[in-house]
Amino acid sequence: MKNAKSLLKKKAQPARKKRLPRRVYNEQEVRHIFKRFEKQNPEPKGELDHVNEYTLLVAVVLSAQATDVGVNKATKDLFKIADTPEKMVALGEDKVREYIKTIGLYKAKAKNVIALSERLIADYNSSVPADRDILESLPGVGRKTANVVLNMAFGQLTIAVDTHLFRIGNRIKLAPGKTPLDVELAFERIIPDDIKYHAHHWLILHGRYICKARKPECERCVIADLCKSKEKTNDTPPPGYQY
Ligand code: SF4
Repeated sequence: MKNAKSLLKKKAQPARKKRLPRRVYNEQEVRHIFKRFEKQNPEPKGELDHVNEYTLLVAVVLSAQATDVGVNKATKDLFKIADTPEKMVALGEDKVREYIKTIGLYKAKAKNVIALSERLIADYNSSVPADRDILESLPGVGRKTANVVLNMAFGQLTIAVDTHLFRIGNRIKLAPGKTPLDVELAFERIIPDDIKYHAHHWLILHGRYICKARKPECERCVIADLCKSKEKTNDTPPPGYQY
């Protein structure tokens, strides 16, 4: 059995700081990667349809565990008649549910859309606040949703980590981490501010269309020569990107 002295000694030890993962890419390599993405798509856009900040927030809430294409199909008619919190509340939860019933978790999402619209009306003059803590306090809004809205609606330099960013961060070791927050902070650390605004869209598009979950299409990849993933199957980027 441990004696009191050894227990005291153990308690007196200072808490260990969490060690940051070692950088696998130097600053120049990171810039080079994002230069390629920029060349491929100078003005990347999110693929969720919306007509204002409020409908962007609703669309992102609806997109949890659903595809952007599926959300766009459902919101096409919904946003025609409900593009403000007041109109959404007037429509009511049952009707919202009908519009979005093709999306996964639609019952809970309809409830959240109504509840968050009521909060916006009651506390924020029906506008979407440009504040992470407030956004995260709204029903159905997590850190990723808040980051997307802050970036797309308010131009903030946030990195929204979805399934694609989480996979790429770890697969190519650009921003390794065990949790989405670890990966977000790792991306924050390595991506220079002057390229942060578009960074998460470039990474989402790269993950969605090229560096796919099951089988990355390395032969079509514009960063094939720069990538340090053990999974890559090709070292040569397409013509036009070989520099
Ligand atoms: S080379 Fe392959 S693994 Fe590396 S980023 Fe490109 S698609 Fe992904």
